[in-house]
Amino acid sequence: MLTNPETVWPEGVVARYLTVGGATVDITHGNRTYPTSDGIGENRNHTTVTCTGCSAAEEFSHWRVVKRMTFDDKVRDTEAADRDAREWAQEHAEKCRAMPRREVNQ
Ligand SMILES: [Zn+2]
Repeated sequence: MLTNPETVWPEGVVARYLTVGGATVDITHGNRTYPTSDGIGENRNHTTVTCTGCSAAEEFSHWRVVKRMTFDDKVRDTEAADRDAREWAQEHAEKCRAMPRREVNQ
């Protein structure tokens, strides 16, 4: 039988999809700072989708490049990233048949 994935959401999971294999695809938000040559570092915000069955994962940046007249601008669009992430999660959940690994002594 399936466990009850909707009762135990790990911290930080903002959305969760149940796969056909009984695992879940979890959507989380993350921040990570990359070192840059000027020492300030680039903060990359992103939405991450991780399958708990087969450990497939995908990252969707919150930052989009917007073409202006004479330059490219970077704008933060969390909703667009979430939308793409949900699409990926939905699609993956529909076909992933990997089963979640269960701990032996539970
Ligand atoms: Zn999977």
